[in-house]
Amino acid sequence: MNLSEYKGIFVFAEQRDRKVQKVALELIGKGKELAKDLQTTVTAVLLGKDMLDEAKKLNYAGADKVIYIDDDALDVYMTEPYVHALHTVVMDKKPEIVLFGASAIGRDLAPRVSARVHTGLTADCTSLDIAQDDDDKEKLNLMMTRPAFGGNIMATIACPNFRPQMATVRPGVMKEAEYTENNKVNIEEYKVNMPAGCKNVEILDTIKIIQEKMNIEDANVLVSGGRGMRGPENYPILEELADLLGGTISASRAAVDAGWVPKDRQVGQTGKTVRPNLYIACGISGAIQHLAGMEESDYIIAINKDEYAPIFEVADVGIVGDIFKVVPALIEELKKE
Ligand code: FAD
Repeated sequence: MNLSEYKGIFVFAEQRDRKVQKVALELIGKGKELAKDLQTTVTAVLLGKDMLDEAKKLNYAGADKVIYIDDDALDVYMTEPYVHALHTVVMDKKPEIVLFGASAIGRDLAPRVSARVHTGLTADCTSLDIAQDDDDKEKLNLMMTRPAFGGNIMATIACPNFRPQMATVRPGVMKEAEYTENNKVNIEEYKVNMPAGCKNVEILDTIKIIQEKMNIEDANVLVSGGRGMRGPENYPILEELADLLGGTISASRAAVDAGWVPKDRQVGQTGKTVRPNLYIACGISGAIQHLAGMEESDYIIAINKDEYAPIFEVADVGIVGDIFKVVPALIEELKKE
């Protein structure tokens, strides 16, 4: 394999309901950083139907170029047409790096594409960097870091002998690229012939679950409860605090496993990664697997009666005290405002 033929960074721009997902913007943000080190460009690859306006937004978010494939078979995610289309583009354009979100779609798509192009894939990365190759100082490799052995160690993996280097990246870990005033549009409308075998599955109907509460990955403020909450009957005080702050509630795995809070509220290594402006941890000890999902929050307040709880190590403000006294006092103060 001639590695020098492979150039540029590709970001798979995941869409649902013809809307580009937040994770795509996070990958563009990270892709731009990596591109600086590699002195290369970032290309977003968008697969869908009637999505030209969304394609332009990827340019506005900082993608140097957008490859857009418009096809009926790509309107809603289905494994076979997506794998076929992406495999075709990757084989044709030969990118050096391909990034996907570690979402349900990315986890289904990325391993199949990597197998077809005969390269490796590092799944569920939490950090990406560029480093010089140990043997060939001219060569730069992508260093892909992910939790291993139940989150007890972080493994850094490289793919020095194959290209493209491929990774799925946890949603919420990387900082989202912001839309710029620069309205330069650079879109290549790319055609892929879909073989008949791509249409083995047809979606007849989609039933959506209507969420009453805000998705924790989208919330600016999270009030998170752990085992210290003692039971589901005590969560209304966290809901009240979250409502006053314009946020929603989340939880540690201990609270989810106990059945106090639904699984989609779990923060951490086996839950969701969140990056709110404010994260208030109530009765959460701060196990490494929990920290993995929230330590990138902008501002962290921890309330715990144990002054040695590890959560205080990542907190900007730590309150040593009983949640059942501190939280009602906070609510009272906020109500005065
Ligand atoms: P505890 O560790 O029991 O802490 C409760 C805290 O509440 C204590 O610090 C205590 O001092 C405090 N407290 C009690 N009463 C009060 C009170 N009245 N006022 C103030 N403070 C009080 N965990 C996650 O959260 N997310 C994950 O995604 C996750 N994934 C995991 C994956 C693996 C492979 C493994 C092995 C574990 C995982 N865990 C995860 C579990 C993790 O190791 C911890 O067990 C869990 O986070 C503990 O939850 P907790 O902090 O709520 O409970």
